[in-house]
Amino acid sequence: MQDKKEVVLEVKNLKKYFDVGKNAVLKAVDDVSFIIREGETIGLVGESGCGKTTCGRTCIGMYNKTEGSVLYKGKDVHKIHGAEKKAFCKEVQTIFQDPYASLNPRMTVGDIIAEGIDIHNLAANSKDRTDRIQYLLQQVGLNKEHSNRFVHEFSGGQRQRIGIARALAVEPKFIMCDEPISALDVSIQAQVVNLLIKLQREMGLTYLFIAHDLSMVKHMSDRVAVMYLGVVAELTESKELYRNALHPYTKALLSAIPIADPRLERMRKRIMLEGEVPSPINPPLGCRFRKRCSYAMKICSEQTPPLKEAAPNHFVACHLY
Ligand code: SF4
Repeated sequence: MQDKKEVVLEVKNLKKYFDVGKNAVLKAVDDVSFIIREGETIGLVGESGCGKTTCGRTCIGMYNKTEGSVLYKGKDVHKIHGAEKKAFCKEVQTIFQDPYASLNPRMTVGDIIAEGIDIHNLAANSKDRTDRIQYLLQQVGLNKEHSNRFVHEFSGGQRQRIGIARALAVEPKFIMCDEPISALDVSIQAQVVNLLIKLQREMGLTYLFIAHDLSMVKHMSDRVAVMYLGVVAELTESKELYRNALHPYTKALLSAIPIADPRLERMRKRIMLEGEVPSPINPPLGCRFRKRCSYAMKICSEQTPPLKEAAPNHFVACHLY
């Protein structure tokens, strides 16, 4: 069913490098390709510094690309201007990791939510504007009395709900969720994830969901792309990834997730990764994971493993397959 839906975002051989001085280049995103279909959620996962946030931001035009292309509904996001750019900014929204830093403390919650409504002239009059704010607050599990309060009066989870209401205010189609639950308590994380799932069902949203661990992503995503040091190590459907992970890095990430069943939890064998993620300024030749991989072979230092289809719709970049 899913593969009959329209491709919303098409990322092809995307590279994003940063000049860091002294002739050094930081290769944050280094040849990444994937597509996202309408109504789908793709989880982009990896340790801090793997390039997932840079990739997400480049995908929605917040950063210029170095090479490759990103098409949103067939249009190059790095080449649109004027009215097309304004329409794109309305359709494509972001929910940020730190809701407190991304919400203006001097504005009321109502005015924060209404900013996009005002910019895009979505309210017919002041009553319509107020109605829209109140409806959005209810949509995200807050109530209309919250409209006149300020951000510091809310908990972390409530602030994230305000951030979500602000994103929804312009009736978007696509939302990049940039680690939206990382700063929240574990007990609140599930509530925000469930809210995002509910909103997706009700409003037909498409999500690029960025996270540093796989535990919540599995509830959220149709497919998951695991990134390591600027490249995609594995990409497949969420259920397939949890049942049948292939890449040694993905296996290590999965082994770190606690299991709710105490009997299974006692049997869980954690795969400990040796060392730190190498610098993206000077990544290892061949497979970028090889210095931490217990399966590394001679070929792994000589040739970069391409991302290839090891099983139907299951792509992995590893010489073992
Ligand atoms: Fe390990 Fe080699 Fe596979 Fe890289 S290509 S993950 S080093 S086995």
